[in-house]
Amino acid sequence: DAFTQTYVRSTPASQQHYRRTREIIPAGATRSLNSWPPHPLYLTGGDGARVTDLDGRVLTDFLNNYTALVLGHAHPEVVSAVQEAAALGTSFSFSSTLEQALGELLAERVPSMERLRFTGSGTEAVMFALRLARAATGRTRIAKAEGGFHGALDETMVNVRAGSSENRGSTRPRTVPDMEGLTPGVEERTLVLPFNDIEASTALIKEHAGDLAAVILEPVLGVGGMIPATESYLRAVRDACSEGGIVLIFDEVITLRLGPGGAQQSYGIAPDLTVTGKTIGGGMPIGAYGGRADLMALLEPQGGTDVYDAGSGGPRLYQGGTFTGNNCTLAAGVATLKTIDPETYTELNRQGDRLRETLNKEAESSGLPLHVTGTGSLFNLHACSGPVTGFRDAQDVAGDLQQALFLGLLEEGVIVAPRGMGCLSTAMTEDDLRFFQEKVLGVAERIDA
Ligand code: PLP
Repeated sequence: DAFTQTYVRSTPASQQHYRRTREIIPAGATRSLNSWPPHPLYLTGGDGARVTDLDGRVLTDFLNNYTALVLGHAHPEVVSAVQEAAALGTSFSFSSTLEQALGELLAERVPSMERLRFTGSGTEAVMFALRLARAATGRTRIAKAEGGFHGALDETMVNVRAGSSENRGSTRPRTVPDMEGLTPGVEERTLVLPFNDIEASTALIKEHAGDLAAVILEPVLGVGGMIPATESYLRAVRDACSEGGIVLIFDEVITLRLGPGGAQQSYGIAPDLTVTGKTIGGGMPIGAYGGRADLMALLEPQGGTDVYDAGSGGPRLYQGGTFTGNNCTLAAGVATLKTIDPETYTELNRQGDRLRETLNKEAESSGLPLHVTGTGSLFNLHACSGPVTGFRDAQDVAGDLQQALFLGLLEEGVIVAPRGMGCLSTAMTEDDLRFFQEKVLGVAERIDA
């Protein structure tokens, strides 16, 4: 309550803006969901590691547009690339040559993406990858991991009901739709695999192998609490998919910021298809999916000829969109990937590893309600003493404590997600990291008191 009152007192301009905005936009902001009580924080600008809110307060941004910004806000190389592209025309009805440039940069970094296509968002990339898997296998069902988030598609918006006693410890947790309005029966069509439970997951995959088109997995659960898969888990799922002729899709929308080749590079495990987005657009809307050339061939004109032959029919699958592969996004992506060198990822990951280690050590020795999960430059602050080893643990953290942590950090000038997700950017200095550490421990102490 004290945290909420302080938030209201320090954000009068946002509050006023909210009152009028919600007359046209439900909840007052498209991205607010219900997680920003008592009103959203409106931002007016960003530069490097900082953002400015409507009240003129400058905050350090440890969320970086939900992990999309590796270089921080308004990086000069990215800004000028977008300006140059925009001056030549923002988007066309036909293709931009920059698609090849960004495609080559991505395929070079992620070798399992033998062929790839761009989309307008990560959600779209997931949608098209799942459709491709269904077309390739002739099967209908998909499986996802418990706590996995893949955008707001009907078929991936099912999960287990965390915190319910019927699911506690269960290896076959009952699945439920995440929200109202989803296609009826979606909780039966999408199978939910207990994350990091090899026995339970492989048993489910084997049992349903005959009608499973795809298994889609984040190598590190992102929104589900920033919890890395064990290597043996990914390997077991990989093997079960190969045996069952099931398309394994890694959702690297977030994890491509862990290295040039994403999480699959560090685990040394290649999926059949990869879905990505966020970082590769340098802050502009983007998604991409790609993988085995034989699967991606479904997007070629039928007959697979080099010369388009109207008589042979179009591709078996349509994929595109009015703004897909637009000039500005592609230019921002090319500039971003060219600016980040491999050592950059290593250094960011090293900083992140050290930060989590220090915070956990301090929190544990002082008995604070704080536990930090994650890997490399990605983290999640949980307002509990831990351990947090799965989605159910993460969801079980008391909502009011988690919100106090979020609002307390905002008050101190630090942005993380309402559920505690965050990441580092190259715009941050050692001072910023010390500042973060100090503020996180300070707020955890206040919550504890
Ligand atoms: N997949 C994962 C792992 C994500 O975290 C997200 C978004 O947060 C998506 C897919 C959806 O991407 P987008 O928001 O670009 O549609």
